[in-house]
Amino acid sequence: MKIILFDIDGTLVKAGGAGARALNHAVESLTGHKNACDKVQLQGATDKANFENAFKVGAGRKPTKRDLAVLTQRYVDRLPSEVLASVKAKKYFKVKGVEKFLAKLSGRKDLLLGLGTGNLKDGAFIKLEPSGLLKHFAFGGYGCDSHHRSVVLQKAVARAAKLAKTAIKDGDVYVIGDTHRDVEAAKEAGYHSGVVQDGFGDPELLMRSNPELMAKDFSNMKPWLIWLGLQKDPRGVRRGTYICPDSPIEHAHYGRTGMDLRDIELGIKKLRAAKRAVSDKK
Ligand SMILES: [Mg+2]
Repeated sequence: MKIILFDIDGTLVKAGGAGARALNHAVESLTGHKNACDKVQLQGATDKANFENAFKVGAGRKPTKRDLAVLTQRYVDRLPSEVLASVKAKKYFKVKGVEKFLAKLSGRKDLLLGLGTGNLKDGAFIKLEPSGLLKHFAFGGYGCDSHHRSVVLQKAVARAAKLAKTAIKDGDVYVIGDTHRDVEAAKEAGYHSGVVQDGFGDPELLMRSNPELMAKDFSNMKPWLIWLGLQKDPRGVRRGTYICPDSPIEHAHYGRTGMDLRDIELGIKKLRAAKRAVSDKK
């Protein structure tokens, strides 16, 4: 059983800033401070962390538990109208090719699709609602689960294991996101990582985070399907295996995951053992 976890903002949809507007509204209603989100790096972080930081900008102090509860409620109350405003202004988009990609993956018995997002569960559903993509996801890990994205992902996998009534191996989990934080969280948890470059990620940070796969969007499904091990690689590369690179590009593409590094180490050990066996015979 393979598990594929999708981030929402910039990976499935772009909600035209609806989340930031809703949070701005919530902070302003509590503290009187306008546009608090201008001073907070929202992308790739969890809502829990974003709410705390935005509140701090507005109030000049850390929020109490009660402050956060009220802030969260005001955010969730405001979000539907902000998402609708984005749709009306034609600023709500699905990431290119995602609909066909999800349709292709849905219905396979060897896959479970879930959400792995920094959004609160309510916020995630509200943001995805106009896209019609929600039907593809049976479970998820959300921003209300933890401050740490890797824990959010692990929660999602635990829920998937419950649903599938089977243990899930870390190597069978594929995380798809759009920022370096998605990649870092996936690696921290020991999962595979792939990113769309057409989201909200900083290109340089994305590069440096070294995901296993980078693609503009989902309009060309082939690299995604090969990465997921659902389609044979025309070049005969077994996924998760380090191959001697023919070119620097191939090296970057196939040879930079933690798992690959372990393969190299194992390969070197095997080589040494073989060499020793030969020299012992002499
Ligand atoms: Mg994102």
